[in-house]
Amino acid sequence: MSLGNIGNCPRCGKLYAVNPKGICPTCVAQVDEEYQRCADYLRENKQTNIYILSDETKVTVKQITQFIREGRISIADFPNIGYPCESCGTPISDGRLCKDCRDRLETGFKKALSSHDGENTQGKPGPGYYQVVSKKNNE
Ligand SMILES: [Zn+2]
Ligand SMILES: [Zn+2]
Repeated sequence: MSLGNIGNCPRCGKLYAVNPKGICPTCVAQVDEEYQRCADYLRENKQTNIYILSDETKVTVKQITQFIREGRISIADFPNIGYPCESCGTPISDGRLCKDCRDRLETGFKKALSSHDGENTQGKPGPGYYQVVSKKNNE
């Protein structure tokens, strides 16, 4: 903790006093309102998926994904909701990546590790590999 925790709200870009929610009070209110829209729609449409939900409520998939991560929208209650894999966009229901991307990432790591041993540089990791790594670093 440092003094004068003033930052730019990552959502609207305005200056605000940094709080545990990580966004300014105006955005907190907006997000709550968006959540309410999602919750209302979900009550009537339990089998919906994230794209339909986003379309119907005009709340971004990214924001809905965040609600899911925060546990405000429970995947257990809405089995089809899912959210996009951060690398390829396939709907998933846990973690950040789908199984395929996790496998690819793991293979990429193993290749990177094994290339440390010898001068073995066979097969560079695919573009998805870099994409995922850079997104992680941005958080
Ligand atoms: Zn804001
Ligand atoms: Zn994927």
